[in-house]
Amino acid sequence: MAGQQHIVVIGAGYAGLSAATRAGRRHRVTLIAPESRFLHRVREHETAAGRREHRPALDRVIRGRRVTHLRARVTGLDLTARKVLLDTGEAVPYDTLVYALGSRTAGRSVPGVAEHALTAERASEIRRRLAEAPAPGTVAVVGGGATGIELAAELAEAHPAWQVRIVAAGQVGGWFSAKGRGHVLRVFDRLGVRLHEHTEVTAVTADGLSTTDGAVPADVVAWAASMEPHPLAAEAGLTVDPAGRAVVDAYLRSVSHPEVYVIGDAAAVTVPGTGTLRMGCATAQPMGRYLGRRLARGTSGPFAFRYGVQCLSLGRGDGLVQLIHGDDSMRPGAVTGALARLTKAAIVNGVVLALR
Ligand SMILES: Cc1cc2nc3c(=O)[nH]c(=O)nc-3n(C[C@H](O)[C@H](O)[C@H](O)COP(=O)(O)OP(=O)(O)OC[C@H]3O[C@@H](n4cnc5c(N)ncnc54)[C@H](O)[C@@H]3O)c2cc1C
Repeated sequence: MAGQQHIVVIGAGYAGLSAATRAGRRHRVTLIAPESRFLHRVREHETAAGRREHRPALDRVIRGRRVTHLRARVTGLDLTARKVLLDTGEAVPYDTLVYALGSRTAGRSVPGVAEHALTAERASEIRRRLAEAPAPGTVAVVGGGATGIELAAELAEAHPAWQVRIVAAGQVGGWFSAKGRGHVLRVFDRLGVRLHEHTEVTAVTADGLSTTDGAVPADVVAWAASMEPHPLAAEAGLTVDPAGRAVVDAYLRSVSHPEVYVIGDAAAVTVPGTGTLRMGCATAQPMGRYLGRRLARGTSGPFAFRYGVQCLSLGRGDGLVQLIHGDDSMRPGAVTGALARLTKAAIVNGVVLALR
């Protein structure tokens, strides 16, 4: 890694942008992503509920660094010729590639999802559908993970005349401690959110959901099932795990192509003592910061990571901070209510500050 390099970073999410701004202190960096504003995904449930959007311009984030933002979509990788292929027809050569294309909501193979459901990425359309409906109706949020919980709480609080239902294949928030899950259920009770647990969605129709527990009528279906990595890593020939995440070594280099670093949701990273990291902003940004510093300095030790807390916003005035061990396993304790909400907001704001 000695001397100046041309580093190409694909993807300007938490991982890619954090890596580009730091690597750009020393090297020439080309950052490739189609959007002009930072996609602050962890606030998308707020956008869906009609709250103000917080999306800093990418140009502002990279200002003062040797980073050029190329607004384009990557269509392929030529790992032999070391080129990134774009939808503009261009092929961008690199010395080092940083792959940070992230993930998207999974479950698109369920019949009717493409036609009748709005995935978490389509937050603006969820907002529009609820705002423009002739009368309040029912919105079904599919997914009992963190994204589904935050989305259901935010929608229920912002649209009290709508009936919000949350549909989950297992328990809603079932991985939290008893205190943590208990708080989520109390908040849903207060907000009037109806739970359909252990209920698998088999199809989405114009009238709502078909499930293993019968029909769940809904005017709007918000799809927030689990996340899957961008498929390009596997298509391009990087070694991937069964979930399609690129397998990397202790320095976040692809095990099959060491000139390619993979970070964020796209990477299957195993840290000794911590385990294989889950997808999340909480893991993506530390990877980006580590790699950016490593590229700028020319060297550093292996990537180290311990979890801190798990945080949820539950509407504007409530939240949950679940205490956890460094390996992401639960502690019994949790902070709830306004203090938890403020903690979550501080973390989310800190994420933007830490992009550079
Ligand atoms: C509503 C919601 C709430 C969430 N809340 C939390 C939370 O509280 N805590 C937490 O840890 N995680 C949370 N997550 C998950 C978190 O958002 C992701 O794990 C995180 O965004 C992953 O970061 P990343 O940088 O790897 O990828 P992403 O943020 O997904 O960024 C991917 C980048 O790649 C770009 N890209 C994609 N395809 C192409 C292409 N073909 N060509 C060029 N560029 C491309 C995108 O435009 C984007 O710039 C939440 C997710 C959602 C949807």
